[in-house]
Amino acid sequence: MMPKLVIVGTVALDDVTTPFGSVNRALGGSAFYGGIAASYWTSVGIVAVVGTDYPEEGFRILEGRSVDTRGIERSQEKTFAWTGEYTYDLNTAITRDTRLNCLLSFNPKVVEHYPAPETLFLANIDPEIQGRILDSLPARPRLVALDTMNYWIEAKKDALLKVLKKIDLLTINESEARQLTGEFNLVLAARAIRSLGPSAVVLKKGENGALVFYEGGVFASPAMPLEVVKDPTGAGDSFAGGLLGYLTVHGHQSPEFLKQASIIGSVMASFCVSDFGVAGTRSLSPEAISGRIRDFGDLAGFRRIDYEERRL
Ligand code: AMP
Repeated sequence: MMPKLVIVGTVALDDVTTPFGSVNRALGGSAFYGGIAASYWTSVGIVAVVGTDYPEEGFRILEGRSVDTRGIERSQEKTFAWTGEYTYDLNTAITRDTRLNCLLSFNPKVVEHYPAPETLFLANIDPEIQGRILDSLPARPRLVALDTMNYWIEAKKDALLKVLKKIDLLTINESEARQLTGEFNLVLAARAIRSLGPSAVVLKKGENGALVFYEGGVFASPAMPLEVVKDPTGAGDSFAGGLLGYLTVHGHQSPEFLKQASIIGSVMASFCVSDFGVAGTRSLSPEAISGRIRDFGDLAGFRRIDYEERRL
C-alpha cells in the first residue's frame, strides 16, 4: 500500500541539553518526529538519508509505527547531526552545532518511491532540496506543506522564497516569521508570508501554542499547560505531523477541519515535549490520545456568549 502522506526531511542524531537533563545522539530529525506523530492519523512514508553511524533502532521505531521507511537512503557518510540547547526559555532552541554530513549530497527520490502522495510535507531541510522535489513531481499533491528554520532563512533565502510560491501551507515559528519578513508584528508577518505563496500559515509560538492564519481569518490553538515538560525538541515537527495527518484524511478545504487539525497538532506536540526525543510520542494508546483531545476541549472550548442576553 502506498502511503497517503509523504514526509521529506531530516533523520538525525541530536545532542540536546535542557534545564532538565541532556541526551546524546538521540534519534531525531524533522521527518522522524513528524512521521511518528502523523502515523497515528494516516499512512506515512519518509524520504530522508542516514549515514553509516545510524542505529537500526531508528528504523525499528518507525516500522513499529508502520511508517514506510523504503524512502530512507543509506549513505556512506555520517548521519546529519544537530546539537541544540534550551535555557529556561523553552520556546527558543539555541543551535550549538549543525553537521550536515550526508545531507550535503542528498538527492531525494520521492517519485521513485512514492509516485503520487495525497499530501507532501517538505519538512525542515535545505530549501534547494525542497524546491527540487516539488519540481520533480509529475502531478501536484492535493496538499503541499513546508517547514523551515532560521538556519535556512539565513543561508538560502532565495531558494526558500522560490519554493514558498508553490506551496499551500507553511509552518514557521514566530522569530523565524519575523526574520523571513522583516515584520515584528505577527499578524502583519503572517499576511506578508501569505502574499509570498502559501494560503495558510501556522505560526508556532512554543508554550503559547500556535496561530493559524488562513483565508477566513485566524484560529488560536493553545499549548497544553503540563506539569512535566522536559524537552521541546521536535514539538514543531510533531505539531505538523498531527496537523497534516488529520488534514490528509479529512481534507483541508474546510476551515472547521483546519481548526480541528491544528488542535490535533497541539495534542501531538504536548506528548512530544513531555519527554526527551520521541519517548513521549512513540507508543501512545488510543485512550491517551482521546483523553488529551478531551483535555483540549476543556482547556479552550466554550459555548458562545450572547452579550445582549447575559448582560445586566
Ligand atoms: P523542531 O520540531 O523545530 O524542534 O525540530 C527539531 C529537529 O530539527 C531536531 O530533531 C533536529 O535534528 C532537526 N534540525 C535541526 N537543525 C536542522 C536543520 N538545519 N535542517 C533540518 N533539520 C534540522
